Amino acid sequence: TLLFDRLKPQAPDALLALIALANADKRPTKIDVGVGVYRDAAGGTPILRAVKKAELILLDTQETKAYLGAEGDVRFVQLMKELAFGPGASDSRIVGVQTPGGCGALRLGAELIRQAGGGARIFIGQPTWPNHAPLIGCAGLPMVDYKYYDRDSHTICFPQMMEALEEARPGDLVLLHGCCHNPTGADLSLEQWDIVSAFMARRGLVPFIDLAYQGLGNGLEADAAGMRMAVERCEQALVAHSCDKNFGVYRDRTGSLFVKGANDETAQLIYRNLLSLARTMWSMPPDHGAAVARIILDTPELRADWEAEVKEMCIRIRSLRARLAASDPRLAYIDEQNGMFSMLPLSPEQVKALQAEEGIYMAGSGRFNVAGLSDDNVDRFAKAVAARL
Ligand code: PMP
Repeated sequence: TLLFDRLKPQAPDALLALIALANADKRPTKIDVGVGVYRDAAGGTPILRAVKKAELILLDTQETKAYLGAEGDVRFVQLMKELAFGPGASDSRIVGVQTPGGCGALRLGAELIRQAGGGARIFIGQPTWPNHAPLIGCAGLPMVDYKYYDRDSHTICFPQMMEALEEARPGDLVLLHGCCHNPTGADLSLEQWDIVSAFMARRGLVPFIDLAYQGLGNGLEADAAGMRMAVERCEQALVAHSCDKNFGVYRDRTGSLFVKGANDETAQLIYRNLLSLARTMWSMPPDHGAAVARIILDTPELRADWEAEVKEMCIRIRSLRARLAASDPRLAYIDEQNGMFSMLPLSPEQVKALQAEEGIYMAGSGRFNVAGLSDDNVDRFAKAVAARL
C-alpha cells in the first residue's frame, strides 16, 4: 500500500457542516444559533471600531516584517498579563508567551506538561469544548473525565466535581473554564472557585485555566476573578488566554499562554522550555492580531473605545439572556449563565425538528449561541423552543 492510503477517514467538523446547512437555507426567517462567533444586533460579526483604527495605525507605522522571536510581541504579552491578572501581573513567577490563539496556548501548555514528565494526568469536566480533548490529548496527557454539568436540571455537579478531584495526585492538572463556559454557560460561583482553589492549593494540584471570553460574561474584571483566585493560591498554574473573541480577531489567531512556577528560577526554566517547544510547532506566532491588540491597549482613546465595545457585546448578550429567561419559567436558568453559549434540554430529534420546521439551527447537543439571536427573533425562538421542551 502507498503511504497515504493508510490514513484513516476523518469525520467532518459537525459545527462547520451545520453552518453550511444554515447558509443554504433560503427561508428569510431562519435563525442560526449554531455558529460560534459573536453577532451584533444586525446579525453580523463586523470588525471592531478600535481594531479598524489600530489596523490603520499599524499599516501606517509598521516598518518591517522581519522575524520576531518565538515569544512573539513582548509588549503584547505584558499587556495581556495585566489584562488577565490585574494587580497580580507584577508576579515575576508568572511567565508568558504569545501563541496562535487560545488553541495554540492550550496545545503549548499540554506540550510543556508532557515535557516536564512525571506522568501528570489532567482532570476534565464534561461536557467541555470539543477541541479540548484533541488539543490536550495529542500531547499524550492521560485525561480523566468527570461530570461537570447536568443539562436537564441545568446545574453544575459541584459535589461530583470535588469528589472526582479527591482522586487527583499532587502534580495532576485540573482544566477549568475561566468564564463563559463553553458549551454550557454555567460558570463556577466565586464561592465555588474559593473552595476548589483552596483544595487544589492544599493537594498540590495544578489549575490549567482556559480564559477565552474575558469581558463577554460580566465584564473584563469580573470574568477574571475566579482565575486570579486560583492562580494566586496555587504554587503552579497555567492560563490559556485568547483575545480572539473580545477583540473580534478570530482569524488572526491571537492569544497567549501564562505559566506560574514556584519561584523566579523555575519560572525562567519554564519560559525557556516554552520557547523551545513553540519553535518546534509554529516557530513564531502570527503578528498581526497581537500588534493590533497592543496598539489598542497602549493608546488611551482606542483602549477606552475598545472597552466600550466589549461592554456593548456583554450587555447585548445579557439582555438577550434576560429576555429568554423572562419568556418561560423553564428558561429562567439562562439568565444565570454567562457568555455566548447555553444548552437546551432538547433531544437530537427535537433539534432536527426545530431545523426542519422553524429554520432554527443549533448543535445536536442543544448548545446554542445566544448572540446569534436578535431583538426581532428572540421571542419567536423562545416560543419555538418552549413548545418542544
Ligand atoms: N477555548 C474555548 C472554550 C473556546 O470556545 C475557544 C474558541 N471557540 C478557544 C479556547 C480557542 O480560541 P482561539 O480561536 O483563540 O484559538
